Amino acid sequence: MKVCKFGGSSLADAGQIKKVCNIILSDPERRIVVVSAPGKGVNDPQKVTDMLITTASAALSMGREEAQFCMRKITSRYANIAHELGVDSVTERITADLNALLECDTSNPHKFVDMMKAAGEDNSAKLVAAYLTSLGHKATYVNPGRCGMILSDEYGNAKVLDKSFKLLAESLAEIDGIIVFPGFFGRTESGEIATFPRGGSDITGAILAAAVGADVYENFTDVDYVYSVNPKLTDDPHPIKVVTYREMRELSYAGFNVYQEEALLPVFKVGIPVNIRNANNPSCPGTMIVADRKDSAAPRVAGIASDSDFTSIYVNKYLMNREIGFGRRLLSILEDEGISYEHTPTGIDDMTVIIRDTLLDDTVLERIVARLKNELGADDVQVERGLSLIVVVGEGMKHGVGVAAAATSALSKAGVNISMISQGSSEVSMIFAVKREHENAGVKALYDAFLGKQLLE
Ligand code: ASP
Repeated sequence: MKVCKFGGSSLADAGQIKKVCNIILSDPERRIVVVSAPGKGVNDPQKVTDMLITTASAALSMGREEAQFCMRKITSRYANIAHELGVDSVTERITADLNALLECDTSNPHKFVDMMKAAGEDNSAKLVAAYLTSLGHKATYVNPGRCGMILSDEYGNAKVLDKSFKLLAESLAEIDGIIVFPGFFGRTESGEIATFPRGGSDITGAILAAAVGADVYENFTDVDYVYSVNPKLTDDPHPIKVVTYREMRELSYAGFNVYQEEALLPVFKVGIPVNIRNANNPSCPGTMIVADRKDSAAPRVAGIASDSDFTSIYVNKYLMNREIGFGRRLLSILEDEGISYEHTPTGIDDMTVIIRDTLLDDTVLERIVARLKNELGADDVQVERGLSLIVVVGEGMKHGVGVAAAATSALSKAGVNISMISQGSSEVSMIFAVKREHENAGVKALYDAFLGKQLLE
């Protein structure tokens, strides 16, 4: 049995929804279908989720009338799609559901915004189920909260609770025919709607695949493959046909946006393969994400990714290596300030912490620097803003020698100065911090060095 998930671009309009339903119906194994909210389409410049967020902000800051104006654009978008699909009968239900949201309590803005955001996927699922039914198939819309998708109460950033897997498996087993499940949200233990982070329908699909023990989790999007480098940077990006969970995790961490990074965990834990496919080209086999890749024939490097907007804080103290607890005290200052860090490369007398820029406004940064000097007695603290990280990813790196040498030489030939190098102990990735303006040149140089002339199998 397959769990398949369709992203927003595949549900943007009636034409796309018809394509999606053809894909579902072409394989009887496709029993559980997770849908996103309608995304950007040929005639629709905005994702429904973004429109809902705008409507929620209008309700919170400007009042009901302004919000009703924004909501009308959303209800008419659903109504147009329903009309073109020949399922006008569902429009009334969707319109009533959306309008009722504007009557809800706004005293907790986080809860209110999540409730609004969830309506995008919820009504998308009602639409797809109605269309499949109109074609004569048994298809059931299910409500995630009522089927056991129980989440933590971190609104906008919720996590699935362990008990959900069993509850979902039990309730979905009782439903015949095609199950149409809205992505992106569930309910908290106290019954409130909560959403995953953006792109979270991928997470819903992964949770369902794990809960029901699917043979494969098919994730339909709008590209044929995951490519080994950002396709905007080169004319001939190589398709990745097979990649491991660990490689994919590293690639998604550093800017590969095809698959939500948190959506790997549920399937990784139980070893269910993920197949990234193109809803606009369903005959293309797509990229398989699996536990192991046969390394003998595969290249050492699977892909090169990059991400910008990092800050490095360099701390130097003579004889730091002999001072017991120095690292712990440094990191506990960050903990105290509520800041998470990304990397901590160390030297003998120095330690650097790499942090996302968004977490550090100037006031927080100044306070941290002062604390490092006063509380740790650091001899020197230096801050560098505007860094990018380039990540070379490949399980095969641990089997070969010379990857670091080849990478640094490629970067030096391209005139890219490396501010920091870090190789995770797992040897799945090697990370280079460079100045933002050197990011693309660095990625291209590394891509040419490792993948430019190889074909990936
Ligand atoms: N609709 C949500 C978003 O735009 C979730 C998703 O599509 O996966 O982030």
